[in-house]
Amino acid sequence: MIETKSIRVIIVEDFKLTRVGLRCALNTNPDLEVIAESEDAIDGLKKIENLKPDVILMDLGLPEMNGIEAILKVREFSKDVKIIALTSHDREEEVRAALSSGANAYCLKDIDPEKLALVIKDVNNGACWIDPIVADIALKSIPKIDDPAILGENAVNHTKVPLTEREFEVLKHLVEGKSNTEIAEELIVSVHTAKAHVCSILQKMCVNDRVQAAVKAVKEGMV
Ligand code: CA
Repeated sequence: MIETKSIRVIIVEDFKLTRVGLRCALNTNPDLEVIAESEDAIDGLKKIENLKPDVILMDLGLPEMNGIEAILKVREFSKDVKIIALTSHDREEEVRAALSSGANAYCLKDIDPEKLALVIKDVNNGACWIDPIVADIALKSIPKIDDPAILGENAVNHTKVPLTEREFEVLKHLVEGKSNTEIAEELIVSVHTAKAHVCSILQKMCVNDRVQAAVKAVKEGMV
């Protein structure tokens, strides 16, 4: 039997047409093999754990459990598997949350299939890759040097952690011990958006979880 050296890929994507399109495009490449696909994160996680792919293509906008949560869960049992987050450029909060979730690459869904195949190979070899448009969104979300939050002009409320007004609002709820669902209800946003805010806050505050964020916020007089 000839040993296959294909890169084994799992696709997690709820939109059937995108999923089928990705599978067909990738399977035409002799170096790649789509070994499974899932339309939701729960099923995807099971297949990832059982089949141990080399690379995962993870859509971020998934029902029930979103792609960012799924990436965090994958990282609980595998540090080695390479994860490519598939994202849409019009969802800035999602892009920022994705950047802190532990994926190896961030691709826009309208990426050219041949380019995607190259990205999969590079990522499989240990490289990281961020779609230039995603990188642009991420850079825009970093406050400019004349931002008062950076200069400390609003130090009483803002310290030097460059949170947006919205994020400060979310942080106050975090300090009150509220869950993502409760925060979403308070702010009249989706739970997905509330989670994205929390991810962004944790990243900016350089903490690992919401408890640490709350402790740091109180300690530094941020709320
Ligand atoms: Ca989707």
